[in-house]
Amino acid sequence: MVLKLNNTKICIKCGIEKDLSNFYKAKTRDKLTKKCKPCYIEDDKERNKQYYIDNREKILKRKREYDKTNPNRIGKCRNKEKDRIRKARVRKEKRPETGWTYIIRAEKYVKIGHTKNEEPSLGVNSRLSNIKVGLPFPDEEIEILFVENGGHKREFELHELFAKDRVRKTGEWFYFSEDIKQYINNPNR
Ligand SMILES: [Zn+2]
Repeated sequence: MVLKLNNTKICIKCGIEKDLSNFYKAKTRDKLTKKCKPCYIEDDKERNKQYYIDNREKILKRKREYDKTNPNRIGKCRNKEKDRIRKARVRKEKRPETGWTYIIRAEKYVKIGHTKNEEPSLGVNSRLSNIKVGLPFPDEEIEILFVENGGHKREFELHELFAKDRVRKTGEWFYFSEDIKQYINNPNR
């Protein structure tokens, strides 16, 4: 008998003597469960996991049947989710573009990138020190050619504009072409 007089009980699973408040009321008997609450929860989780493993097909089939007979219900959920995504996108588009687009040069290559920092020179310089690490050029050979207002969107536009000068199909490196030179000299043409 595990019930003790002094309002404690020993859990049959973990073997720890605990206050009675640490045990659930048993459903079928007017007693407390033999396992303490944490042990009970743990076993329950295990049981559910095992049940899922043993009955996976049955559960999935039930789910599919539910979806079939309640098309409006899933439709509603999906529309709600779509709506949430759409609203988030509109919010994002409305937000003014912050940050700066820059063009830096290293030998015959230029990198067109962007930085989110508020202060352009600070932003580009801190970014510069970051990207310098991965570049096979000495610091003094890297030069900031150009900085303009606009973040990621503007960067993307410039990438598209000079797509033919790209070093690789993707990425931020371009050959320092005549077009890019001209753009830097007269960006508002
Ligand atoms: Zn226990």
